[in-house]
Amino acid sequence: MLSLLASLVDNIGMISDVFCKIIKGELPAEIIYKDDDFLVIKDINPQAPVHLLIIPKKHYDSLEDFMESDSALLGRSLIIAHKVAHQTSIADKGYRIIINEGEYGGKLVPHFHIHLLGGKRLGPKLVK
Ligand code: AMP
Repeated sequence: MLSLLASLVDNIGMISDVFCKIIKGELPAEIIYKDDDFLVIKDINPQAPVHLLIIPKKHYDSLEDFMESDSALLGRSLIIAHKVAHQTSIADKGYRIIINEGEYGGKLVPHFHIHLLGGKRLGPKLVK
């Protein structure tokens, strides 16, 4: 699993766009939800009992690429997040949603995605 990750890391530390490959069916993934616009997969290196990635099928490098005309799509990503939170039974106790952006944000995969984590009491909050 980790060797697969390592093989996909380029020389500046970013992982190549593995999500486009998963969307095209060129790489395997544990898909837990899909529709015309989104895929939700299990993170390959989970940081909580439930760690999912909500990924738009259309390629956006990052949040910076979203325009006003993408508002509905961006909004749906959060609707899907709470749907899969219920589907995976983490909604009752609570969960966390994270978007990493850029070098300081620690982003690894250059394809916009939202992390959904739950299933245990999560670590300290960065913002209180
Ligand atoms: P980020 O740091 O926000 O770019 O997070 C990228 C996430 O993608 C990390 O949590 C990785 O564990 C995850 N990841 C990388 N490759 C795969 C893959 N092939 N299948 C599922 N998750 C992956």
